[in-house]
Amino acid sequence: GKDEGQMDLQAIVDDIASMMAPRLGEGRVADYIPELANIDPRQFGLAVTTVDGQTFHSGDATTAFSVQSISKVFMLTLALGKAGESIWKRVGREPSGSAFNSIVQLEHEHGIPRNPFINAGAIVITDMVLAGHKPREAIGEFLRFIRFLADDESITIDEKVARSEQATGFRNFALANFMRSFGNLEHPADLVLGTYFHQCALAMSCVQLSRAGLFLANRGTNPLTGFSVVSPKRARRINALMLTCGHYDGSGDFAYHVGLPGKSGVGGGILAIAPGKASIAVWSPGLNKVGNSALGSEALEMLAIRTGWSVFGN
Ligand code: GLU
Repeated sequence: GKDEGQMDLQAIVDDIASMMAPRLGEGRVADYIPELANIDPRQFGLAVTTVDGQTFHSGDATTAFSVQSISKVFMLTLALGKAGESIWKRVGREPSGSAFNSIVQLEHEHGIPRNPFINAGAIVITDMVLAGHKPREAIGEFLRFIRFLADDESITIDEKVARSEQATGFRNFALANFMRSFGNLEHPADLVLGTYFHQCALAMSCVQLSRAGLFLANRGTNPLTGFSVVSPKRARRINALMLTCGHYDGSGDFAYHVGLPGKSGVGGGILAIAPGKASIAVWSPGLNKVGNSALGSEALEMLAIRTGWSVFGN
C-alpha cells in the first residue's frame, strides 16, 4: 500500500500541474456574468493541505478566484451550527438529477429543495443564517467564519461579482419567490439573495480553500488552529452530502472517477476531501458539459490514483 509518510506530495502535485500545462484553456468558462466570462481560461492551480498541516501546491494555486457554489458548503456548516438538524425540515438530502438552478422539482415537492447544494437549497440555507440579522451582518459573519477556517484574514468578497449576480440573477429571484409562495423562505427574496450573491462572490485561492476545508478531513477540528469547528459526526455528514450532491448533475460521475466528497463551483474551483488525509482544492476556469471544471476534475482523478485516497477503499 501507499504510505503517506513516504509519499512525495510535492512531486505529485507538480507532476499533475505539468501534465495539465499543455491543455490549459480546455472547456468553456462560465459566461452568465462578464466578471467570470472575462477570466483567462489558461490557468490551473492545485493545493493539498494534509491533516498534519502541511500545504503542497503547484500552478496558479495562490491566485484568488470566485468560489461560487463551493461557498454553499461553508454556509451549510454555519446553518447547521445555528439550527442543527432542524434544517432538514426545509431542505432535503437527495441528489437532484436536474440542473443546479432548476425550478420544476420545487413545484412537485411543495417548495422543499432536494439538497442544500443546488441553488434553491442554498438559498433556503442562506435564509436560515439570515434569521435575526441584516444581510450586511450575515455576510460579515460568513466572511469571518471563512477567515477563521482558513486562518487567513486577507480573504475578501468580490463586490463586482456580487453586484453583477444581483443584476442578472433573475432565475435565483424566481426560485426564491417561488419557495416563499410555499412558505419556505422567511425573508424577502432581495434580502436573502443579497446575502447569497455575496457568499458566492467569495474570492479565495486554492491554498486558502484547501486550508478552509481541512476541518472536514480531520473529524471536524481544524489542525492548523486546534479549534473544533463541528463534531466528528457532523463532519462525516457534510462529507456525505458533498459526495452525493456536490457536483450538480455530475455527482455520480465524480464519485465514480475521483471517489472523494467534493463541491464544485461555476468559477472552475473544486474542493475535495480525503477523510483522515487531506483537503484538496483545484481550480481551472474551463468547465465541462455538466458545469464542473474540466481540467480540475481530471486532476483530482489523477491525484486520487497517485495517492490511493478514496472513501471506497484503496
Ligand atoms: N452564483 C451562481 C448562481 O447562483 C452560483 C452558481 C454555481 O456556482 O453553481 O447562479
